[in-house]
Amino acid sequence: MIILLASAELDHFAKVGGLADISAALPRGWADLSHEPIVIIPKYQCITDFTEIHSTNIEFTICNLSVRVFKSHLPESTISVYLLECDELYDRPGIYGNPDGYEDNDLRFYVLCKAAFELMIELNISPDVISAHDYHTALLMPLLKIDYARHPQFLNTKGVLTIHNAQYQGWYDNERIREFSHWEFIEKDSHSPFLFHDHFNALYSGINFSDAIIAVSPGYANEILTEEYGAGLHEVFNNNRHKLSGILNGVNYGLWNPSDDCHINQHFTILDKSGKVQGRKFLLQSLFDDEKDLLPDSLPVFGIVSRFTEQKGFELLEDCIENCLKDKKIRLIVLGSGDARYEDYFSRIQNSFPGYCSYTRGYDEELAHRILAYADFFLMPSLFEPCGLTQLYAMKYGTIPIVRHVGGLKDTIEDFNQIQLIGNGITFSEFTSSALLRAIDMAIDIYGNKSLMNPLIDNAMHCDYSIHKTAIQYIESFETLKERH
Ligand code: ADP
Repeated sequence: MIILLASAELDHFAKVGGLADISAALPRGWADLSHEPIVIIPKYQCITDFTEIHSTNIEFTICNLSVRVFKSHLPESTISVYLLECDELYDRPGIYGNPDGYEDNDLRFYVLCKAAFELMIELNISPDVISAHDYHTALLMPLLKIDYARHPQFLNTKGVLTIHNAQYQGWYDNERIREFSHWEFIEKDSHSPFLFHDHFNALYSGINFSDAIIAVSPGYANEILTEEYGAGLHEVFNNNRHKLSGILNGVNYGLWNPSDDCHINQHFTILDKSGKVQGRKFLLQSLFDDEKDLLPDSLPVFGIVSRFTEQKGFELLEDCIENCLKDKKIRLIVLGSGDARYEDYFSRIQNSFPGYCSYTRGYDEELAHRILAYADFFLMPSLFEPCGLTQLYAMKYGTIPIVRHVGGLKDTIEDFNQIQLIGNGITFSEFTSSALLRAIDMAIDIYGNKSLMNPLIDNAMHCDYSIHKTAIQYIESFETLKERH
């Protein structure tokens, strides 16, 4: 099968969060199953010469903008990655333009979607499936069903929209999008497939025009049907239930593996974890000045690597983690950036608890790997979590996730049973600081008892959430669609 995947993010090229990881991992999974993925992304300013990029002679005009096509490939693969150069749209810092998003994100992502079709025409390729990811590329779906519906190259092409996070929807100005797209829609038309509450909504449009919708975990597929987690779209998801399924995201263990991770120096395996002990010591030494005076394993180390948004639930820490730090029961190492509220909070507790809390602001691929690899516990108190990848990465390194039981976290983390010694993490349900504190206290207790901690670590390291399984399920879903005609 030829599968065209368009995404706003792609690991190795442009990354903010898990969308990048999956946009890169899925094509690898499909290629390993002998399918033919093709990836297309914008050529952002951050995509520099470190990645092999070649010019092509392909160029087209979309919305009066000239778009030039460059070509690269996913590292250590033959999977083609096409990059769209359009400096007016993409030659800017960052991907989305945080915190509020670039004002012309509607045009930036519309051009990406339209270019995907023009590229296929130029290359004379008929994709079996077009795989769209989140609101940024959701407009591939109406383009397929309206603009290119009669084009001979797309007559048998199916459109599949993967929802990584329904909270971000792409509310665009009706007039502007009408101008770029020439799509016909009338305000106050309550049945419009484009307008949700009278306003153009990219995700909503993608849902309506897709042949299938995949949520990034079975748990999330169920949750988005509810008012609590549907981000306002729960009725829309219910109306489209017949084409909605959940497929759990997976991990590229070629990149996230304690035995050969290129971002860490002390490697280890489930049979020999001495590298984790050593790596943890070096990590603490690099983050805390006084580490040489402390025993490396004296206190459990809790790690956080995250985008800072309300979704991630860090407000729960505010009423509980300080006491743990004050009582010198744990050390906390944090990497992340985003909402000022959380950046300020972590800066503050770093200042209040020198030697016990370290906060690194920003995005740092290497430090992310080191924290995930060498911490003892990994905190994810999420308000909601469509899938979550970091808990899966953490487990592979024997770093025990402490998670709120929600969405993909519920699908992947089973609370440790201290009698039967089964389970791969520590969970809590209520979105309260006291529930999180109980989970942290439980972690501290388990950490102090090696006959519990060691089996828990082994259970976590044994878990297999390989992208291979995810890729198989996507292909099965694509094949079902193709058979249906
Ligand atoms: P989300 O997609 O909601 O951000 P995921 O857990 O699915 O959450 O994926 C997050 C990805 O982004 C992981 O690969 C994680 O390592 C990475 N990441 C998050 N924050 C940072 C950061 N500050 N520096 C480096 N990598 C980060």
